[in-house]
Amino acid sequence: MTHSRRTFVIQAVSATGALAVTGLALAQTTAAPPMVKDTDANAVALGYKTDGSKTDSKKYPKYAASQNCANCALYQGKATDAAAACPLFAGKQVAAKAWCSAWAKKAA
Ligand code: SF4
Repeated sequence: MTHSRRTFVIQAVSATGALAVTGLALAQTTAAPPMVKDTDANAVALGYKTDGSKTDSKKYPKYAASQNCANCALYQGKATDAAAACPLFAGKQVAAKAWCSAWAKKAA
């Protein structure tokens, strides 16, 4: 008797179609938006100063030392926030002690 043995070795190469995208996951940070810089074009146009006390009062005679972003009607944060959004500087934050020529008294 003859035994014929056939061995079929089937190598199944399993290609996993899983794409590893974990490394590409977008890191959605909750970091605060960047601060407005005095040198930003719209900041210059509005006479914005991060330190409002540095405002040129000759150029902006309506400026008063008591005025700052924190007590401006457009300031989007609480008066106690160190920085907050302002609609005049979309996507950025203004400093509480900053000032610009669009300052308007916040309603009491
Ligand atoms: S409009 Fe008001 S809150 Fe906005 S930058 Fe000027 S002073 Fe600050």
